Amino acid sequence: MRQKSQLCINEFNPDDVLEAVKTVIGPMPASLHEPIFKGNEWHYVKDCIDQGFVSSVGSYVKQFESEIAKYTGAKYAIATVNGTAALHLALILAGVKPGDEVLAPSLTFVATGNAISYIGATPHFVDSCEVNFGIDVGVLRLYLEQNTVIKNGHCFNKKTGCVIRAIVPMHVFGHPCNIAEIIKLAEEFKLVVVEDAAESLGSFYMGKHTGTFGLLGIFSFNGNKTITTGGGGVIVTDDDHIAERAKYLSETAKQPHNFSYIHNEIGFNYRMPNLNAALGCAQLECLPSFLKSKRALFHSYQKAFSGMDFVTIVREPPSCWSNYWLQTMLLNEKVASYQENIIKNFLNAGILVRPVWRPLHLLPSFASVPSAPLPVTTKLAQRLINIPSSAGLI
Ligand SMILES: *Cc1c(COP(=O)(O)O)cnc(C)c1O
Repeated sequence: MRQKSQLCINEFNPDDVLEAVKTVIGPMPASLHEPIFKGNEWHYVKDCIDQGFVSSVGSYVKQFESEIAKYTGAKYAIATVNGTAALHLALILAGVKPGDEVLAPSLTFVATGNAISYIGATPHFVDSCEVNFGIDVGVLRLYLEQNTVIKNGHCFNKKTGCVIRAIVPMHVFGHPCNIAEIIKLAEEFKLVVVEDAAESLGSFYMGKHTGTFGLLGIFSFNGNKTITTGGGGVIVTDDDHIAERAKYLSETAKQPHNFSYIHNEIGFNYRMPNLNAALGCAQLECLPSFLKSKRALFHSYQKAFSGMDFVTIVREPPSCWSNYWLQTMLLNEKVASYQENIIKNFLNAGILVRPVWRPLHLLPSFASVPSAPLPVTTKLAQRLINIPSSAGLI
């Protein structure tokens, strides 16, 4: 058999990639990720309207929270208006303060960087790895050893003098990152772990649900995620005190009282409305079937691409069970320059695909924040293309 490294680029035809995808999803236009409403959605949302409890008070919110806790194995779940708000609140509860630095991948959705910035803290970008696209733990260890110092139980950036308070691992496209190793490293370097598990409901690392390794984790239920509440998010944690504060702060920090409005600190209006939770309860019932379809879709793509030399379909990392939220093509480095051509080919055919997010260190808002060298992130950004991933495609 030929070695992949000996492949001649002349043998690459971008049209073959489009054809391979079409053998799986058919020739019709397709979107990247569509929600499916074929369960009890109408029923629960109507019930919610009939009851008159459509806002932040209502039984569906509590039901949704307890079902998320049960499914993920977290002790507590606190539902929020969206995943970004969940992450903002989670970082506050993790003790992140204005002026702090927070380690985060650059290869993530902008919400990760935004939530850190809302606090007046600064993201500090670290490189990702080629296996699971999450934080590269080996590279991070060397970087921390060389660039930080532990004083009074805190990790300081030697260059900026700022405290590096926390780390936000993200499970990219639903594939678990090397979270157990990151937890160990974080303990060593006195960093609080807040997992951005926005994309990974239904994904497990060695049998434990993603989002439940850190002190706090968050999930998103935006319309394009594996299940949706329209807009919505949730914080999960095992910590009693943090869970209580999460609920309190998300409900404008209102003191429990029969009639008076008493707020002892500045809170947030971040609680998920009952109407959204009703949708979420119905969607959760369908989660197992969505996950099954998404896994089947992966296998079909993998089969369709099995003869292809320059493009592979991304599979779940070893010892992990992925929700396969977004299916992804990884281009061989030799054909990375075709990324835009390939994407345009698909769009012309009415099939929606997209490159991975532009890495955050290349966005104007984050151009001048602290950063480790990011060679892998920069290369991966030119090699990854998300392809149609809806559970309804199969
Ligand atoms: C979707 C997403 C979020 C934010 O979720 P919203 O509900 O859209 O606010 C945060 N981080 C990552 C990595 C995401 O993919």
